[in-house]
Amino acid sequence: MRDLIVVGSGPAGATCARKAALRGLDVLLLEKSRHPREKLCGGALNPRVPKALGFDIRPVLDREVHSARIHAPSGRNFLVTNHGLSSYMIRRNRFDSYLVQKAEEAGAQVIQDSEVVALQQTRSAVRALCRGDSYESHLLVGADGAEGIVARESGIRSSWPPNRMALCMAADVSMDEADIRKLTAVDGESDELAMEFYLGTVDWGYGWCFPKAESVCIGIGCRMDRMRNLQVAWMRFLKRINEEKGLSIRPAVEDTFKVPVGYPEWSLVGRRIMLTGDAAGLASPLTGEGIYYAIVSGSIAADVSVQAIESKNAQEVLAFSQRMRKELIPELESAEFIARRLMKSTRSLEIACEVAQKDRIIRDLIIQFVAGSRSAQKSRNSMLKRMLIHHPLESALMGLG
Ligand SMILES: Cc1cc2nc3c(=O)[nH]c(=O)nc-3n(C[C@H](O)[C@H](O)[C@H](O)COP(=O)(O)OP(=O)(O)OC[C@H]3O[C@@H](n4cnc5c(N)ncnc54)[C@H](O)[C@@H]3O)c2cc1C
Repeated sequence: MRDLIVVGSGPAGATCARKAALRGLDVLLLEKSRHPREKLCGGALNPRVPKALGFDIRPVLDREVHSARIHAPSGRNFLVTNHGLSSYMIRRNRFDSYLVQKAEEAGAQVIQDSEVVALQQTRSAVRALCRGDSYESHLLVGADGAEGIVARESGIRSSWPPNRMALCMAADVSMDEADIRKLTAVDGESDELAMEFYLGTVDWGYGWCFPKAESVCIGIGCRMDRMRNLQVAWMRFLKRINEEKGLSIRPAVEDTFKVPVGYPEWSLVGRRIMLTGDAAGLASPLTGEGIYYAIVSGSIAADVSVQAIESKNAQEVLAFSQRMRKELIPELESAEFIARRLMKSTRSLEIACEVAQKDRIIRDLIIQFVAGSRSAQKSRNSMLKRMLIHHPLESALMGLG
């Protein structure tokens, strides 16, 4: 019997498997696909990701960017830049394969093309049933993404509340450097590119263009309970950027993609089982970014697994919920607090953009919040205070206070 089975080898699962194996656990990582597998994603990594992983990600980096351009609903736009901080642009096929390779190097056994189709729990173990094979362990981590089965099979969560799910339409569009620059250049002179955010493109969401090495990820996403017609919004967004940038991009996108956003109000643990990453519902309600939260939750699950195995006490998995509520969830709650005030109307978004454009301190606070250079609650409170003291009219119009 193994110490730990990890189901799913995205950023959450690969990180959990690697960190648990490094600390001496006998780990099995099961993946239904085969790496390098495609995973549609903006591919923008939070500046904190390299530190959270603890190894060099330069071998799989497409680009580093230092700016984000915010397009207000009215069409005006402004840059938010911090040269001291990088956001990292990656392609998920290369990035995720690299994380799995690191897990294997750390000693985890990885079995690909192996879909877990059911779980069985006994008094002393948990069993993962794949087609044709089954594996037993003391503990199991569900890192099987938004549509995974571990949450359902373990009885932890049966479905997603609509206000906790975002739907996206997106495509990685191959293009030459000249067209990448048309969409994402910081200005006409430097080589720097920016992440482009188009606010107001959809209710409770946004459109984006993120530069990669030989493509741009173009997408829109919004919360499912606020969604009207995503297909129409997508066509409108493509038309807008084609007209504004003199391009003729027409990616064929038939599917929508899910990101569970918000903060989990449900349990994250079952008997011998912990949920991480998208399986736990950990993407930011403000930006939809989930890779950083997947990595951190995978690391915490690894820590807790080591403690539970060393103390021979499966009850220790309860510590996972406590640590998540202390170390990760307050940041997601703060992001939800900001998202509710910003996204409640186009007018609120417009006012917030107007303030951010003229007030450098507000822009710095946004960077601190997203980059996590201070605690999320402190950045959130400083933003609120600055708004109330220096922009009282705008605060009143946004319903702050
Ligand atoms: C369109 C879009 C754009 C996004 N852009 C960004 C972005 O720019 N930056 C960012 O930080 N986040 C972004 N996200 C969110 C991000 O993709 C997720 O939060 C992140 O992938 C979560 O990682 P994970 O390891 O929890 O799950 P996943 O990456 O989904 O990995 C789950 C793994 O589990 C495997 N699996 C599933 N079921 C089983 C099973 N039964 N048995 C075995 N294996 C199984 C899957 O094959 C997969 O490999 C985006 C999401 C979408 C949809």
